[in-house]
Parts: sequence; structure tokens; C-alpha cells
Amino acid sequence: MPDWKNLKDKAMAAVNNAAQEVDRQIALTKLRANVAQAQSELEKALAALGTGVYQSFKSQGTVDMSDAAIAELVGKVDDSQSKVDAAQQALKQGNLGTDASHCPSCGAAVDPSAKFCPDCGKPVA
Ligand SMILES: [Zn+2]
Repeated sequence: MPDWKNLKDKAMAAVNNAAQEVDRQIALTKLRANVAQAQSELEKALAALGTGVYQSFKSQGTVDMSDAAIAELVGKVDDSQSKVDAAQQALKQGNLGTDASHCPSCGAAVDPSAKFCPDCGKPVA
């Protein structure tokens, strides 16, 4: 007679593992979206700075912007870059997860038998 209790426990463990993996993938999807959002804001901030310089130079032959105005635009670029860095860091952390099949340095998926990451080349412990 099969050990139903044991089989049931194994099935439940498999279901739990699958559910955890789904949760992890959902979390990673959100983290990737955060990175994309932050990168888009960074591009907008850079575009605003470029547009300001372009329009001023185009109409006046010189960059007729105050240092304060430029500093504000540069500050927005720096803020956006910080957000990109933070979002990428969070994604890296999320990618580490609980399994060993991700690179501890960059979070890329790594073959369990691999000694080095195929993405960043760093050793995989
Ligand atoms: Zn890596």
C-alpha cells in the first residue's frame, strides 16, 4: 500500500515551492518594472537638460541659462540616476532569492554546475 501521507506531504511541498517561485517571479517582474521606470525618468531628465541647452544656444548662439537653472536640471539627472541605481540594487537582491542558481554578483541565472557567471564572469560560489 502506498504511503499516502508521505505522497501528500511531497505533493504539498511541491505546490508550496511552485507558489513561492511564482511569488518570486512576480516580485522580480515588479523590480524590473521599477528599473525601467527609473531609467525612463533618467532619460527624461537628461532630455530636459539637453533641450534647455539646445533651445538656448539655437536662439541666442550661447547657453543663456543661469547656473542655478542648470544646477536644478543636473540635480534632477543625479536624483534619477540614484533611483536607477537603487532599483537595480533591489533587483539584484531580489534575484539572489533562496536558490543558488543565480549569480551573487549580478543576479543572472547561472547553471548550477557553472563555476563562473556567464553574464559578468565573476566566480559563482
Ligand atoms: Zn554575474
